Amino acid sequence: MASGTKKQEKADENGRERIVQATTPAPGPENSGDDAGMTAGEQAQEERARQLAENPADPVVAEERMARDLRPRHFRDYVGQKAVVDSISIAVLAARKRGDTLDHALFHGPPGLGKTTIAHIIARELDSTLVHTSGPALERPADVVGLLSNLKTGDVLFIDEIHRLSHAVEEYLYSAMEDFRIDFMTGSGAFAKSINLPLQPFTLIGSTTRAGMLSAPLRERFGLSYHLDFYSTEELTQIVTRSAGILDVDIDSEGAFEIARRSRGTPRISNRLLRRVRDYAEVRHTGAVDKSVASEALGIEGVDSLGLDRLDRLYLTTLSKNYQGGPAGIQALAATINEDQQTLEDVVEPFLLKIGFIVRTPQGRRTTPEGFEHLGLQPGLDGPAGQGTLL
Ligand code: ADP
Repeated sequence: MASGTKKQEKADENGRERIVQATTPAPGPENSGDDAGMTAGEQAQEERARQLAENPADPVVAEERMARDLRPRHFRDYVGQKAVVDSISIAVLAARKRGDTLDHALFHGPPGLGKTTIAHIIARELDSTLVHTSGPALERPADVVGLLSNLKTGDVLFIDEIHRLSHAVEEYLYSAMEDFRIDFMTGSGAFAKSINLPLQPFTLIGSTTRAGMLSAPLRERFGLSYHLDFYSTEELTQIVTRSAGILDVDIDSEGAFEIARRSRGTPRISNRLLRRVRDYAEVRHTGAVDKSVASEALGIEGVDSLGLDRLDRLYLTTLSKNYQGGPAGIQALAATINEDQQTLEDVVEPFLLKIGFIVRTPQGRRTTPEGFEHLGLQPGLDGPAGQGTLL
C-alpha cells in the first residue's frame, strides 16, 4: 500500500485553529520527511474543501458545515460537564504558564457528548496544532511511527476510538507517551537493525466510548482521565438555544426545552433534532419553533416523549416481550433485532441504563418495572412464555 498522509490545515476567523487530518495511513519511517508536492490524499481534501465552498446547497456539504459551525470553540461556550472543564482548563493554563506540554488526556463516555469538541478546544487554548486520527485508521505500526515522527513540539495528537487500536500499534505508543521516543526494527534476519527515534514532546488526547476495553498499560499512561456524562435538560436547552442562534432559527424557550427534553441527554442529538424541527417548521408552519411545533416534528421523527427513538424502543420491546423482560444476553438481543451488537452497547444501552429502564445482571439484561410501564406492558403478562433465558 502506498504511504501518504492526508492532511488538511484549516484556520478559523482569527487564523488560530490549526487542524491536520491524518485519516489515511501516515508515512512510514522510511519516508517520514516533509512531503514534497501534494499527495492524492491532500488533493482529495483540497477537492472537498472546494466543494464545501462552492456547493452550500448540497445537503451532505451543508450537514458537514453545520456540524463544524455548531462546535463550541472555547471553554466558555462549552455547556455543562463543569467538573471536567474546571479540571482540564486548570491543567491547560498551568501547562501554558510553565511553557510545558499538557499531560496526555483520556476522555471517555457515550458518543455525541463532546469528547472531540473538548479536544479541539484544548488544542486551541494551547495555541497548538491538532492532528486528528482514529484507532481503526492506524492499521500498521508504520502508520503510527510516521504520524508520531511528524509531530512538532506541543502538537496535540487526537486519537478517536482509541480502544480500537491494534495491539502492535498500541505498543509503539507506550514509549512515545512516556519518554517521547520510539524503538522500531528495520530490515530482517542478519540485516535487522533496531532504531531509536527521538520524538518532539506532544500531548496525546484519546477518546473512547469503551474505557474498559483499553489495556492497563495504555490507560496508565494518561495523566488526565475524564468521564463525560449525559447532560441535563437545562444544559441541553442552553445548547439548543445557542445552536438556534447560530443557525438563525426563531425558537422560543419552550420549543428549545421540548427539543432538549427529547435529546437522550446528548448534545449531538439536540443539534440533529433542532435541524429536523427547523425543516418541519419551515415546510409546515411559518418557520418559528414553539413547543407544539417541536412536539409535532419530533413525533414525525419517531422520537417519543422521553427521547427514545425507534431503535431504543425496538430494543426495549424485544427484551420486554420476546424475552419477557429478560435476562437476555446482548448477542441474542442483537441477533433478534438484527442490529450490530456494538451499536446496542455503545449507543442504545447507556441511556436506557441511565434512565433506569433496563439493568445489567450477570445473567443478562433485564427490563425494569419503569421500562415495562413506559411501553404500556405488564411484567410477566406480555410476550411469549419460556424465552426468558440467557441464550
Ligand atoms: P463525541 O466526540 O463525544 O462523540 P462531539 O464532540 O463530536 O462528541 O460532539 C457532538 C456535537 O455536539 C458537536 O458538534 C457539538 O456541536 C455538540 N456539543 C458537544 N458537547 C457540547 C457542549 N458541551 N456544549 C455545546 N455543544 C456541544
